[in-house]
Amino acid sequence: MLHFAVAGVPRSTPGSGGTVLGLRHAHSLGITAMEMEWVQRVPMNEERILAIQKTATDLGMTLTVHAPYFINLNSPEEEKLEASKIRILNAMEMGQLAGAKSVCVHPAFYMKMDPAEVYDNVYRATDDIMKRAQKKGLTINLGFETMGKITQFGTLEEVLKLSKEFGIYPTVDAAHMHARSNGKWNTEKEWNEMFDIYESYLGPESLKSMHLHYSGIEYSEKGERKHLPLLESDAKWEDFLHVLKKRGIEGALVCESPLMEEDTLLLQNAFNKLK
Ligand SMILES: [Zn+2]
Repeated sequence: MLHFAVAGVPRSTPGSGGTVLGLRHAHSLGITAMEMEWVQRVPMNEERILAIQKTATDLGMTLTVHAPYFINLNSPEEEKLEASKIRILNAMEMGQLAGAKSVCVHPAFYMKMDPAEVYDNVYRATDDIMKRAQKKGLTINLGFETMGKITQFGTLEEVLKLSKEFGIYPTVDAAHMHARSNGKWNTEKEWNEMFDIYESYLGPESLKSMHLHYSGIEYSEKGERKHLPLLESDAKWEDFLHVLKKRGIEGALVCESPLMEEDTLLLQNAFNKLK
């Protein structure tokens, strides 16, 4: 099954918000998944995480996590590198406790270095993270994201190659790919090609548990500027949905539109009408 996830607590959630209320409200709208936006910091209160886990289980909601933005696995400063690793490990630990399937991470910045050298640095950091994760019994997926700016490490090939090395799978952010290429990756043909490449790295079974991001996006030749509502963008979202349907893609597709639940439901309803 492909779950359409709202990116955070829905805007129309009544009261003071919070993930538990957000989950209940999303469920009442007919949404079956949520990405928890831990982009500023990872919540470390285990009691609250367990309340989220229980609510999600009771409602049958699928969960994913977005790790903090303040991560650079290519940092030359030992302290910053270690802090990045800790943020990822904390997000994985709390994510697993909440029952989430995958944690997406913005891996690194090139910092004007040769991409091959950056790959090696990110590889070494990931190796360390995975060893530490294993010691903690963490089995949740570490989903390195395809990134929207040309200064950011995270082309499709980079995250696929890295994921294959460690037996994990990336977060394919379709909007970021569209923005980074200054308008490519938008048509049915292009998305089919993307899934072909994905499958060529991770195998056909990998298409049954994907972590995807989608939204409209504003961009320039340098890539991403900001996410946009679907209907205010040039995203050929119906083409994308067609490909998802035809190829039987499963997992979670997080809608990162500023309109949150509205666009999540737009995608979900259109998808459900496809034959
Ligand atoms: Zn992201």
